[in-house]
Amino acid sequence: MKLGIVGAGQLGRMMALAGYPLGLEFLFLDKDAKTPGGQLAPLLAGELTDRKLLGELSERCEVVTFDWENVPVEALEGLPGKARIYPPTRALAAAQDRLSEKRTFELLGIPTTRYAAVDSREALGIAVESIGLPGVLKTRRLGYDGKGQFVLRKPADLDAAWAALVDPKTGKAALLYENLVPFDAEVSIIAVRAANGDVAFYPLNLNVHREGILRLTRAPYGNVALARQAQGAAKKLLEHFKYVGVLTIEFFVKRGKLVANEMAPRVHNSGHWTIEGAVTSQFENHVRAIAGLPLGSTAARGHSAMINLIGELPAREPLLAEPGLHWHDYGKSARPGRKLGHVTICEPTAQKRDRRAFKALARIDRATWLALR
Ligand code: AMP
Repeated sequence: MKLGIVGAGQLGRMMALAGYPLGLEFLFLDKDAKTPGGQLAPLLAGELTDRKLLGELSERCEVVTFDWENVPVEALEGLPGKARIYPPTRALAAAQDRLSEKRTFELLGIPTTRYAAVDSREALGIAVESIGLPGVLKTRRLGYDGKGQFVLRKPADLDAAWAALVDPKTGKAALLYENLVPFDAEVSIIAVRAANGDVAFYPLNLNVHREGILRLTRAPYGNVALARQAQGAAKKLLEHFKYVGVLTIEFFVKRGKLVANEMAPRVHNSGHWTIEGAVTSQFENHVRAIAGLPLGSTAARGHSAMINLIGELPAREPLLAEPGLHWHDYGKSARPGRKLGHVTICEPTAQKRDRRAFKALARIDRATWLALR
């Protein structure tokens, strides 16, 4: 069976790496073969929105999935080929727009931030008046890794926030304003649903972001009550969309309660530890689900930590000299703020995991290490 993947970034590459041992084949669509996935599997070279190439992908593959959630839904719908598209485009559409994402959370009774749509400077004033300060103004579409966001703390920030996010050419903007949550922690859940309706959940991930970018994940995290809340939210979304594949939800934890921040209709950076730290990785379970295969166990093998390698790769040798440290290089060129790889550490206890993770973090990402100390 051949699976088509729209977007040949590191997520697609890790899907293919997980799928080859199952006997599956892969075909990517992305701009060139130098992409992380293109270094591994055949690739159709072009724009991710190119209808002709999407059609070819759909003709040559049984299933089409994506590693980038911003593929326009219109580009994916009504393709000439035979391929099914998983996860369903309805879930993709909801996740692409922060406003429909919030409305979906509300519809399903999943607690989320207070929010208002903002499309003018005047509307921003009204939103801030009703929701209050501090808050975050975000672009509704195409934001990632903290891009397209502006934190407002005082009334004088409104003009600067609007100026930062408005399109200078058209004077227009499609934004969302929400309250800034004074969270105790950030967590995420990774869930998977098979075509036959089977559902499985990974243990909760404890995530640390800096400058809007994920730096460190540790798992399993939290108590039964937190996991139950997260699983309840994930189950509602999976059923709502008749979902097939892996779905991620990110939450803020505030006084023992979860507040949904956003969802991703795909495998997720906070689940990279599952490659070594779970019986079946998120990538393998995504591929199994969309290929119609039975799901594998999502149980953790121990206590894992994942540290992102951002901007430039650190020296590999001293880190590899750490017994049991796993190194993942995505084959990308260095650029500030770019995710180039990650390392994973798995240990039998949380204490030992934390000791080793902080030692590695001090080498890899001193600013995050200092912030957490
Ligand atoms: P996002 O792209 O919405 O996931 O935002 C990236 C990161 O910015 C989050 O993981 C948080 O660390 C922070 N952030 C975003 N929105 C909020 C909020 N409403 N309250 C507190 N922190 C936020």
